[in-house]
Amino acid sequence: MAGARAATAASAADLELVERLLAGDEGAFASLVGRHHPAMVGVAAAYVGGDRAVAEEVAQDAWLGMLRQLGRFEGRSSLRTWLFRILVNTAKTRGRRERRSVPFSALAGPEEPAVAPERFVPAGERWAGHWATPPRDWAALPEERLESRETTAVVRRAIDRLPDGQRAVITLRDVEGCPAAEVCALLGITEATSGYSCTGPAPGSAARWSATSRRARNVSGHEPTCHEVVELVTHYLDGALDPGDRARFDEHLRDCEGCAAYLRQLRATIRVAGRLAPGAIPDATMGKLLAAFRSWPRPGASPPG
Ligand SMILES: [Zn+2]
Repeated sequence: MAGARAATAASAADLELVERLLAGDEGAFASLVGRHHPAMVGVAAAYVGGDRAVAEEVAQDAWLGMLRQLGRFEGRSSLRTWLFRILVNTAKTRGRRERRSVPFSALAGPEEPAVAPERFVPAGERWAGHWATPPRDWAALPEERLESRETTAVVRRAIDRLPDGQRAVITLRDVEGCPAAEVCALLGITEATSGYSCTGPAPGSAARWSATSRRARNVSGHEPTCHEVVELVTHYLDGALDPGDRARFDEHLRDCEGCAAYLRQLRATIRVAGRLAPGAIPDATMGKLLAAFRSWPRPGASPPG
């Protein structure tokens, strides 16, 4: 890692890539699309109410926006940051137009539970708030199985099922490898509203996303139910619980196989997500983007003579 500088300024490789794009290098454009398009769709989905078809359109529009603006790229940020900024702006505009845009902080709200409430014993019954349907524990699989095709598919589905806000954070942090500060800047997150740690733990640690329900934050003083453990697990992973709550969590995790499995699964998801190869891009999408690239009026490309 080249350190903080690499996160905030364009690298020599970025500048060279921009030169190649401006020279009309189709292969360079195709590989850039291959590298970032799936993550762009994932992030866009957080702004358009989770509609994948609209998110796909937003990502395609962002590529066209990038081409329009490429002549003005000055390298004050990395190409990736610049690209995702265009994406987020495109997504916000689209979300507003469709009246589906929600402020990012609201994505972490209690309307969107981390796990469907039906999976816990309902209030009023004995064991209320504890697992009715505990998670099936696939995280205990050996490492090589975790990277197998079918497990990768399971991890992708696990990411797809996350609340939109958490998914955008994970996509940027763990799939794209953006540092926490960059994620916060791109998504316009503040710690105060989301609970996500912007200065957060170093990349590579288990502590990652933390966009959990505000309602569930007050467990102080009693033994947490499984439901509360699940809602607060990101705080637990980020080391954001006070010592008393942390001790109660640890105690609960020691005694509750369901919650222990949930935590292992989450950690495995985070670990595998960081190594996922980019998803396949439909031929039609790639064809459309390449056609746009070919007809793009490149800045500085004047006809000979
Ligand atoms: Zn439990």
